[in-house]
Amino acid sequence: MFNSLTERLEATVRRLRGQAFLNDENIADALREVRMALLEADVALPVVRGFIEQVRQDAIGREIGKSLNPGQLLVKLVHDRLISLMGSENAALNLAGAPPVVILLAGLQGSGKTTTSAKLARLIREQTKKSVLLVSADVYRPAAIEQLRVLAGQVGAQFQPSDISQKPVDIAAEAVAEARRRALDVVIVDTAGRLHIDADMMAEIRAIHAAVKPLETLFVVDSMTGQDAVNTAKAFHEALPLTGVILTKTDGDARGGAALSIREVTGAPIKFLGVGEKTGALEAFHPERVASRILG
Ligand code: GDP
Repeated sequence: MFNSLTERLEATVRRLRGQAFLNDENIADALREVRMALLEADVALPVVRGFIEQVRQDAIGREIGKSLNPGQLLVKLVHDRLISLMGSENAALNLAGAPPVVILLAGLQGSGKTTTSAKLARLIREQTKKSVLLVSADVYRPAAIEQLRVLAGQVGAQFQPSDISQKPVDIAAEAVAEARRRALDVVIVDTAGRLHIDADMMAEIRAIHAAVKPLETLFVVDSMTGQDAVNTAKAFHEALPLTGVILTKTDGDARGGAALSIREVTGAPIKFLGVGEKTGALEAFHPERVASRILG
């Protein structure tokens, strides 16, 4: 993600040497550099504008203390704002409800929902020892149901068979009833996605949400889709009360802009990063680490 912003800022912040205060004039070049870096990383324009303005306000009139030189101070201000943009700390998965706790995954086709359902099941199994039931409400792609069945076997999760003749909302509701009967702890509902946002898909997932009342409603999004990721996030956010975001395919994403934009657009924290195709390739999202990586 990003070429080191610190390195990029080196020349401009060097010119700040000897200044007693940061002001509009002496930080202009450095802010321009930050702005360019964010735009090149595919961060959404309104987010970039807001970010630059916040850093500017943080900086203006700041007296240069003894511990940091002016350049370091500016880099620190950028760092702190990057963290608050992404959410201050890691937002953990919420499993603190009466079992069965329901996790609903939403997102476009190909975003990585099915893979992520299995990754989450594995993570929950490994970290909490809770039992997990996986179910697919994707009745449009029989291959998706089969894919989830195979993955469930790999990660030691239970699998609830579903059939393309059933209604998605019934599949989800039945899975929860089954989990209750069998005293299972967690149900992960994988849903259908389309290639583009459409009204039917949104109506369907809202109906599933209403029927199973998930504790976590996680929006799964392919980080490589850049600006589109932000638009998709906005549409899902308007349709559903999202509790978190999982950013997938970050292993193939050199720019990383989606991580910065999505929190701002949805208000929901990024909870995990998908970092590969294997079921173990899911990492907790730590804003602090990502900010440090961006700054280099
Ligand atoms: P769905 O249509 O949303 O259920 O998407 P899938 O789970 O079928 O994933 C679509 C493709 O993306 C598959 O080939 C997955 O292996 C791949 N994929 C999912 N997550 C990741 C990830 O974090 N990194 C990489 N490299 N590939 C991923």
